[in-house]
Amino acid sequence: MIFLGTGASELIPNPLCGCDVCRRALASRDPRDKRCRSAFLLDGENMIDCGPDVMSACAKEGISLQDLKHIFLTHSHSDHFASVTLENLQMCVTEPPKLEIYLSREAWDGYQRLGEVLTRQDYTNYPEKAGRWPKQCTFIPVEPFTEFPVGGMTVSAVVGRHPGMFGGEQSLNYLFQKDGKTTFYACDTGLFYPETFEYLKKFRLDTLIIECVFGKLPLQRDKQHMNLEFLFETIDQLTAQGTVDADTHMYITHVGHKGGLLHEELNEALQARYGSRICAAYDGLRI
Ligand SMILES: [Zn+2]
Ligand SMILES: [Zn+2]
Ligand SMILES: [Zn+2]
Repeated sequence: MIFLGTGASELIPNPLCGCDVCRRALASRDPRDKRCRSAFLLDGENMIDCGPDVMSACAKEGISLQDLKHIFLTHSHSDHFASVTLENLQMCVTEPPKLEIYLSREAWDGYQRLGEVLTRQDYTNYPEKAGRWPKQCTFIPVEPFTEFPVGGMTVSAVVGRHPGMFGGEQSLNYLFQKDGKTTFYACDTGLFYPETFEYLKKFRLDTLIIECVFGKLPLQRDKQHMNLEFLFETIDQLTAQGTVDADTHMYITHVGHKGGLLHEELNEALQARYGSRICAAYDGLRI
């Protein structure tokens, strides 16, 4: 598994931003202080999210996506799904792979309508391009809290406390079961809904990957992202109900500049609480 992008939508450093984190990250010689936008490779066939930095991250890390089959979209925000990336990925000399793209019912509905608009407008002068998405990509709506098979995996999704850009859309946090191991990717989300905790009771996680956009910044409890306080509360509750235990490996991703922490500072805050079984992820980290 490889983290391709561990930043939030504004990246770290945002070159237009003069905040403490961006200034220090810009000057830092530690590559772990520079974070691109969201994407994660489960393996060569399965990717979570397809943010705007996927192609450059793969080029930098020497990763081929020629075997890619499935993309699991958490939600429609452009740091997680950049349609231009999907378009550009398919500009291949060789035949690009056909892709199945999983997403929430609301995002699926939104993209169908968006696709109609794009076909009518942007492609008026390029009729050969119209319908390229449908030809190469199959968009598949996901029913939350329900298991479904994908490749050799059993997949399910819980609903995150985080709206997407389409009406009624909320993010999906995915559970992947393969070869007796369970990985949970919780990005983006605020504090979990009670039904999410309830659903997770039947799992023991080998790997938990969870967001922490806001680090040290205090938040209202209905905020649609995590800070360290919310993250610790969530991990403690998952531990109390047996979903997380001493053998669960935990990785923190989707880190934003408002949290006030560079990589090593975030790592120290995490490990002060849970020791070496938790760490701050960084772009290019292989686990
Ligand atoms: Zn995001
Ligand atoms: Zn900044
Ligand atoms: Zn988002």
